[in-house]
Amino acid sequence: MISPSATGVYAGLGAAACAGLAAGAFAYAAIWPGSRIFGEALVAPKRLDELALTFDDGPNAMWTPRLLEILARNSVRATFFLLGSRAEAQPELVRRIAAAGHLIGNHSWSHPNLAWSSAARIREELTRTNEALQQITGVRAKFFRPPFGARRPAVFRIAREMGLMPVLWNAMTSDWSEPSAERIAAQLTKATEGQRRRGHAANIVLHDGGHRDPAANREPSVTAAGLLIERYKATHRFVTLDAWR
Ligand SMILES: [Zn+2]
Repeated sequence: MISPSATGVYAGLGAAACAGLAAGAFAYAAIWPGSRIFGEALVAPKRLDELALTFDDGPNAMWTPRLLEILARNSVRATFFLLGSRAEAQPELVRRIAAAGHLIGNHSWSHPNLAWSSAARIREELTRTNEALQQITGVRAKFFRPPFGARRPAVFRIAREMGLMPVLWNAMTSDWSEPSAERIAAQLTKATEGQRRRGHAANIVLHDGGHRDPAANREPSVTAAGLLIERYKATHRFVTLDAWR
């Protein structure tokens, strides 16, 4: 039986649900600014005081621990898009990333260009990585960044079917080939300011690993992350991508 007061509660819930839907549609438009260009992928919302540091191609035995130190020293949480194959080989390091409160996302198993891969291969790359990450951390990944940002509708559709939200970025430089941390930080600052002028938060991508060569030097990228934290810690909130869902 539903009492009159309970009906009132249900009516109230209905109104709240409608408001929620409207807010959801607004959030969708705000969070997915490039949706017509990129397909449906999370980029960055209209929150000028927020900044997301994201790191691709790890975990890396040499550079990920150095990065974790810098983030911990500054109480900054970041998002790590891990390669399943590297994660499986270094489960302790993956657990350290998770234990420090960082968000872990799926960056495929072996870093192929998924724009040229069959649907079966895409599924295998994503599933295998999801299973490895869940086995190591006990947490199911909710975000996926395609290797090389390579996208075609099938890549994002398959990711979404698996409960993974596709993520791109809006601030990038070729940090993997730039030897100067100062130049990397300057380029990313310029990109961040550009996004700010357009009304968007910054979704910054750096690399703490090398998908081709695990021994690649990532010191410039890791140092650049520290420089960006110094530059923005007084004015910005560093968020993980789940803050933007
Ligand atoms: Zn990558």
